[in-house]
Amino acid sequence: MDYLPIFLDVRDRPCLVVGGGPVAARKLSLLLRAGARGVVVAPHFTDELRAADGDIELRERPFADTDLDGMTLVIAATDDAPLNARVAALATARGLPVNVVDTPALCSFIMPAVVDRSPVIAAVSSGGRAPVLTRLLRARLETLIPAAYGRLAELAGSVRGKVRERIADPVARRRFWDEALQGPVAELALSGQDRRARQLLDQLLERGAAAGVGEVYLVGAGPGDPDLLTFRALRLLQQADVVVYDRLVAPEILDMARREAERIDAGKRASQHTLPQEDINALLVRLAREGKRVLRLKGGDPFLFGRGGEEIATLAAQGIPFQVVPGVTAASGCAAYAGIPLTHRDHAQLCVFVTGHLQDGSVDLPWPQLVALGGTLVVYMGLGALADICAALIAHGKDPATPAAVVAEGTTLRQQVVTAPLGDLALAAQGLPGPALIIVGGVVGLHETLAWFNPQVADAAE
Ligand code: SAH
Repeated sequence: MDYLPIFLDVRDRPCLVVGGGPVAARKLSLLLRAGARGVVVAPHFTDELRAADGDIELRERPFADTDLDGMTLVIAATDDAPLNARVAALATARGLPVNVVDTPALCSFIMPAVVDRSPVIAAVSSGGRAPVLTRLLRARLETLIPAAYGRLAELAGSVRGKVRERIADPVARRRFWDEALQGPVAELALSGQDRRARQLLDQLLERGAAAGVGEVYLVGAGPGDPDLLTFRALRLLQQADVVVYDRLVAPEILDMARREAERIDAGKRASQHTLPQEDINALLVRLAREGKRVLRLKGGDPFLFGRGGEEIATLAAQGIPFQVVPGVTAASGCAAYAGIPLTHRDHAQLCVFVTGHLQDGSVDLPWPQLVALGGTLVVYMGLGALADICAALIAHGKDPATPAAVVAEGTTLRQQVVTAPLGDLALAAQGLPGPALIIVGGVVGLHETLAWFNPQVADAAE
């Protein structure tokens, strides 16, 4: 190790920044975040520095040796190399820790890249050799460490004494923490349910870490491209005991589940339900009762034409803990990947999502209202009834020349986009596979110029 990593307590202590530009401002803001008293000296300050909030003293004049009096540490951040060197020399002579921006040779300490989940802090350094690499690593850590990790640390900290009292054996204690910080307690804390997390933690402590009732995560898997998963969805996938998934969920996403996780296919096909909804609801309850962490994975967003509400209603009625993780819905995913903005100041001020699923063999939608509203119309589950839907819109006054599109298997490498005037869409889209989304409205006209994702064209060119 070229450096000793330490975390310094600078709360309420004066720390000097020499310099009045943007670099000085950046260093100052880090000091302030750690609760330091910021003292800044420079002949001129940028407006940004002048406007900075916090415990700050601005000395608007050239640096003087006496500025070092009483300081806890010093940062030289001017663009005047000889001045930086002088500050470093003076600080070193006084035994003060000093950092000279971008000049490791003059530094007695260097500042790491930080991932701040206070009170948890991850600090990364390359010893000044490859700052870009450090930043890349930090970005990876940012994605790995949940945003609310600090909450979990606060929670753990608040019961630490009690845990030590109750569980004397250090090995048993470690096992307790392993369980508490990775299981349902952690998930409750990370999703902002601090009070319930605390209750559950207390229960665990009472019971000595025995597993009680499990919980259910109702998770949106997005429209297909695995990269569109949320961080939370990924994290839960990697700790679930059972994954109950729908037909629409891409295999690549299922692959991200913990290897040992049991996988249950609850796939539903239009008009040929493989598992009736009540059975799925009951299955989730039974698995959670067995103490399992059950991840119910649904295509797109679970609360949009996904029956997510019905599934958690059963859980709520039975008192089983659950949480809901949103996903990118097919409309957002397909629109983005097809270059069709759903709203646009020139074309559509509103956007309506409807289902074109057949009820008793016919599509039952409030056609006059839909036509009168204008804007963009997005039809989920409408491929089977595409011809009927187009005809009904036209019969109720929609202009047959209105731009319209079908996006099939959107966001995947098999995505196909067919556009045509509404009157010709059914013919043009014949033979397209599902799942497919219908988009009707002026915005579809933008596809020609905004389309950017053409995986099949790229393949053909190779
Ligand atoms: N909860 C899901 C929708 C479930 S209904 C969501 O929020 O997206 C199923 C319908 O979604 C399909 O019939 C189709 O209309 C649409 N859909 C889902 N994935 C799609 C995809 N990759 N491309 C096009 N349409 C899709």
